[in-house]
Amino acid sequence: MQSPMILPHTYLTSDFSAPGDARGIPAPSEAKIERRAIVVKGDEVAVHESANGGWKLRTLECTGTVFLGPWKGCEVWALDAESFTGVTGGARVELHNDIRMRSLREIAPALTKRERSLALSAVGMLTWHRDARACARCGSSVKATRHGWSLTCESGHENFPRTDPAVITLVRDTRDRVLLAKNHRFTGGMVSALAGFVEPGEDLEDALKREVHEETGLVVSDLEYFGSQPWPFPRSIMIAFTSRLAEDADTDITLQREELASARWFTREELAKALEKGELRLPPPTSIARSMIEAWRKGRLL
Ligand SMILES: [Zn+2]
Repeated sequence: MQSPMILPHTYLTSDFSAPGDARGIPAPSEAKIERRAIVVKGDEVAVHESANGGWKLRTLECTGTVFLGPWKGCEVWALDAESFTGVTGGARVELHNDIRMRSLREIAPALTKRERSLALSAVGMLTWHRDARACARCGSSVKATRHGWSLTCESGHENFPRTDPAVITLVRDTRDRVLLAKNHRFTGGMVSALAGFVEPGEDLEDALKREVHEETGLVVSDLEYFGSQPWPFPRSIMIAFTSRLAEDADTDITLQREELASARWFTREELAKALEKGELRLPPPTSIARSMIEAWRKGRLL
């Protein structure tokens, strides 16, 4: 199904094209090609300001821990600034010529699609390298194999990167109002669609219905796939659905107070007024939650 998105999903990038090994895992070529590295520190990447005031990835002439693929005639790697003591080392990256370290969440919209794809892989893979220091099967130490795409222990157990699926839904009632909630973690009056992680044994639809019911007591149905968004902070993919309050179901909300500070139904006019007054704000334009909300505001949801 063609999703009715009206904002670009900044993190939705799928043009990854690297030479691969027999399992399709990216591998550098044998040719003498210049090797450059994207420098990563937590969720920050090294960038420089472009002529038009935007941001461009600022790579260094070296290899890194994880091979990412070809870009601009080079082979590009991901390099963890914390483990790199050569030219720029940790915090000193900030001081090196024109390099700035900026949060990928903040600068992603300014990057090209290919830059975003590389930067997302770099942040996601290096986060995994930092967090997965022991073999998941036997607990012994691991070292990078397959050019960083696996971590292998002394017993030969090969560990691969994991992605945690999370679901998010914009629920509508029969009056075409939407349910927006304020999570305790949100700041500055932000409200968003309901979301949660998928548990073992659940399909996406079950996970979504469970999350909505746990957090609000509401029963939803008519799930329609909207789109997905990789979110390597630290290792999720957000899978978005629109949904409807189940037929004859109560619109009364029973708030799960440990998770949510508030949740309520909004008409388009009520939301517009609250945003105008500055009482509420929506998630960033780069998020799939915002894409769904904007599609609803423009009457573009099915
Ligand atoms: Zn092991």
